[in-house]
Amino acid sequence: MIKRHLARIFIVFFFFLILLAMHRNAFAIFSETEKIPYSDFKKLVSQDKLEEVIINPTTIKAVLKAEGGQKSKKSITTVKVEDTELIKELIAHNVKFSAANDSGWSQSLFLLWFIPMIIFLILMARTRKGAPGAGLMSIGKSRAKPYIDKDTGVTFDDVAGVDEAKEELKEIIDYLQNPQKYQRLGGKIPKGVLLVGPTGTGKTLLARAVAGEAKVPFFSISGSGFVEMFVGVGAARVRDLFEQGQEKAPCIIFIDEIDALGKVRAATPISGGHEERENTLNQLLVEMDGFDTRKGVILMAATNRPEILDPALLRPGRFDRHILVDRPDIKGREEILKVHCKNVKLGKDVDIKIIAARTPGFVGADLANVVNEAALLAARMGKDGVGMDSFEEAINRVIAGLEKKKKVMSRKEQEIIAYHESGHALVAESVPGADKVHRISIIPRGISALGYTLQLPTEDRYLLTRSELLDRLAVLLGGRVAEEIKFNEISTGAQNDLERATDIAMSMVREYGMSEKLGPMTFQNGRRPQFLELGYRMSRELSEDVSKDIDNEVKKIIFETHTRVKGILTENRDRLEVLAKLLLEKEVVDGEELRKIISGKTEARK
Ligand code: ADP
Ligand code: MG
Ligand code: ZN
Repeated sequence: MIKRHLARIFIVFFFFLILLAMHRNAFAIFSETEKIPYSDFKKLVSQDKLEEVIINPTTIKAVLKAEGGQKSKKSITTVKVEDTELIKELIAHNVKFSAANDSGWSQSLFLLWFIPMIIFLILMARTRKGAPGAGLMSIGKSRAKPYIDKDTGVTFDDVAGVDEAKEELKEIIDYLQNPQKYQRLGGKIPKGVLLVGPTGTGKTLLARAVAGEAKVPFFSISGSGFVEMFVGVGAARVRDLFEQGQEKAPCIIFIDEIDALGKVRAATPISGGHEERENTLNQLLVEMDGFDTRKGVILMAATNRPEILDPALLRPGRFDRHILVDRPDIKGREEILKVHCKNVKLGKDVDIKIIAARTPGFVGADLANVVNEAALLAARMGKDGVGMDSFEEAINRVIAGLEKKKKVMSRKEQEIIAYHESGHALVAESVPGADKVHRISIIPRGISALGYTLQLPTEDRYLLTRSELLDRLAVLLGGRVAEEIKFNEISTGAQNDLERATDIAMSMVREYGMSEKLGPMTFQNGRRPQFLELGYRMSRELSEDVSKDIDNEVKKIIFETHTRVKGILTENRDRLEVLAKLLLEKEVVDGEELRKIISGKTEARK
């Protein structure tokens, strides 16, 4: 990409060099000119040695006749003197002459214009390096233009393993295909759909597939393209994009990597560096508020960092519909592999199920990479089909690449996580005061969470009793205790759990007066000051004795809970094993299955 632009810059550079060379006055820059006194100049005139004379306001330039086969003609300059006879003499000696504006000045003007032009072109090319197909000639036009896709040609068949997201997007497709159907009853379709998920899970692909399925044009721009933009250009592009979109409705306008553009705006703009981004973001917000979905324009955006987005973007009427595009589970990976193997000649020994099992944590882009790499390997070795050995090798290569980015878990780590999450889940189902488990997963998501146990509250809660808090505490400790029981060893994976557990225990003692020893009192001097309380000294200092008591009480709550959890999990040891093994096999287990294991129905599978 960058190489191509460099080449382009050089072509432009040489083009200008040629122009420069053709410029008659400019040519003189490169040939030597001798400065001579006016008297010598007059002598040359009378000796018939001059071929051409150019008279400037302050100087006179002359080209000498070529002498004896000399190729390059010598030229001279002299400072102009008030001389009314000169013209007559020139005519008398048959010298060609002409007047000119000060050519010395025009030469430097030429350079003055030429050098910044080159710098400008280089800058321009650099800012646009992210846009394939956008030539230098399209400077100033909408970045969206090269991205109009009349028909993306991508369908839902090309995107696999994200069934939930597809299901949610079907409504949008249906709307784009017949907007009248929805408008008839006055229903409102969402204006903005935000696809959220890790890099490489197929968000961009999915957006294109929506356009492809609905058979509408697809306008897209990338948020990161705005960051390097010149002042005012970003906002103009957004305006342009929406204008074009409205003309071509029904259509989809897609803003990829919106986080680059839609970062939270600073409360106090200190440096001017963010101003352009903010202008662009503001323009986007204005356009979003101004346009009417009834015309059939759907706005889509994608991000892998929803947490840094400006809340203004997520408000109702803007990107208020969020669709999760998560890492695929083992079944999803199998389907994605099938999509990418469609045009690959597979060896007879290839079992896609096994490849899927070997690639936990891989996203669609990684899997596409594996298939491609395997095909290349097989081709290099001159095979006539891509065999399992090529796939193995390709997986190892992709893993090596991902390991550098710290994205892959070893089997041992997976095992630890499986037991850890099973611990959380079993405790959650065994104590009365915890929320029901909705799903357990050992597919890493985000940076910090390796696996997760998703609990959904069955009702909205405003008050929690002491025993309910203790139950929640127990669930948090469940992961760590499961590791202790199974491996006789503990890992760093429970850090976040322990932090939250300690928080709960602290609050119980200090804020809710739930400790027997300290009684119904609050000791909140550790509370974070609220915004308006800045500078306000928090009430009383705690005595050393009380501080010690608080620590002891917190410790007591945690230790007692730890013992309780150990009891629960030891009692359920066999269930822990079944669940962890199932998790290792399937990576995701839903609440239903978990409850079956607990009631003993799945135990026969062992
Ligand atoms: P994202 O935008 O989420 O970072 P992309 O849509 O750019 O991911 O995906 C990059 C490539 O990886 C796609 O072009 C496709 O080849 C492959 N890919 C990613 N996800 C999937 C999927 N769910 N199904 C099929 N291919 C996928
Ligand atoms: Mg993308
Ligand atoms: Zn945990």
